[in-house]
Amino acid sequence: MSTPTIAVIGAGLGGAAVAALLQKAGFDTQVYEQAEAFSRLGAGIHMGPNLMKVMRRIGVEQQLEAMGSHPSHWFSRDGASGDYMSRIELGDHARSRYGAAYITVHRGDLHALLVDQLDSERLHYGKRLSGVEERGDGVELSFVDGSKARADIVIGADGVNSALREALLGVEAPLYSGWVAHRAIIPAAKLEAIEELELSAFEDCVKWWSEDRHMMVYYVTGDRREYYYVTGVPEPEWDHGTSFVESSREELREAFADYTHPVVQALIDSTEEVTKWPLLERDPQALWHKGRMVLLGDACHPMKPHMAQGAAMAIEDAAMLVRCLEAFGVEHYRQAFACYRDRRFERASKVQQVSHDNTWLRTQEDPAWVFGYDVYAEPIDATEKSVA
Ligand SMILES: Cc1cc2nc3c(=O)[nH]c(=O)nc-3n(C[C@H](O)[C@H](O)[C@H](O)COP(=O)(O)OP(=O)(O)OC[C@H]3O[C@@H](n4cnc5c(N)ncnc54)[C@H](O)[C@@H]3O)c2cc1C
Repeated sequence: MSTPTIAVIGAGLGGAAVAALLQKAGFDTQVYEQAEAFSRLGAGIHMGPNLMKVMRRIGVEQQLEAMGSHPSHWFSRDGASGDYMSRIELGDHARSRYGAAYITVHRGDLHALLVDQLDSERLHYGKRLSGVEERGDGVELSFVDGSKARADIVIGADGVNSALREALLGVEAPLYSGWVAHRAIIPAAKLEAIEELELSAFEDCVKWWSEDRHMMVYYVTGDRREYYYVTGVPEPEWDHGTSFVESSREELREAFADYTHPVVQALIDSTEEVTKWPLLERDPQALWHKGRMVLLGDACHPMKPHMAQGAAMAIEDAAMLVRCLEAFGVEHYRQAFACYRDRRFERASKVQQVSHDNTWLRTQEDPAWVFGYDVYAEPIDATEKSVA
């Protein structure tokens, strides 16, 4: 009997994580990524203890801890008065209470580390999935370059505009949420040069709020070389037809005119380059798998980034899917997929909803249901196999 093969579509954060875990567990896993080569895309990303526990299994927790910033708190503050609306303890508290560190990093550095864990001979760049067809005992994949591949099962980790999702659920564009995100990185040297403010005024992890918008700010490197902000600002239409556009200091000044706190204004004044992104989402959907195909991450449940948990959900999905495949075996993919979906649907849907509402940590609350979660502690009953 030949060894079953698994195809992963997309080598983003979720795809690289699932493929790394599958390959570590000994599954024959091929990864198909549309990009021509790796590039250091994105900017900041929060890695809560729930996500760091998966990084531990992949074997990169220590490297991430070394490269990331370790905030002592998540602060929420009023954009005008600077009043503290919440002080969520992280640092040593997170480590002891939730079982791993809370760090912030550059998304590109995290991505590079995950991709480095993959067998390079099984990572195929320049492979944009264009068609998928279940035939007999496998799935035939077609790519835009005219090539084809075959696999026993296919994992769609191809992001918010997933081609595999289309194969499962038909063509349906993601919803524009009515919010945009401005994203900028400010070199620490620029902050040091501000005479009116001490460098310590720029806290390690702080979200500035008003009624309908916010600015989340944190370091993306452990040596505090790069400070990063990402906003959430209402904008009724997105008709640019691109995934992002250039923005400007002036646009930020206008959007945050009411944020009179000097730290926020200093950040805007120090901005050299800033881009603006539409925030896309979907409503929770019941169908996560069909036949030999299964979805994870943004392909399945894209969300506004306001909880900083989108990648965490993709990577928790990855860990649970691999656990279920290990418990049931690829040949029992139906049960494995059902096991995975049953254990992920409620949590991912709740995080989608709270992200949509943008209420996370705005006031003092207990974040244990998110940070304390351990995907490896969830029981899996392999006797579910007998249902087959
Ligand atoms: C502004 C912003 C800030 C964010 N901040 C955070 C944060 O702090 N913390 C957090 O946890 N999350 C954050 N997120 C969310 C996070 O980035 C995503 O949820 C996460 O990247 C999803 O991972 P994924 O693997 O599902 O998709 P992606 O990382 O988008 O990867 C999809 C991959 O599939 C490839 N692909 C697409 N189509 C095809 C195809 N047809 N064939 C082959 N390959 C294909 C793409 O090239 C890409 O490499 C943020 C998102 C935004 C927009």
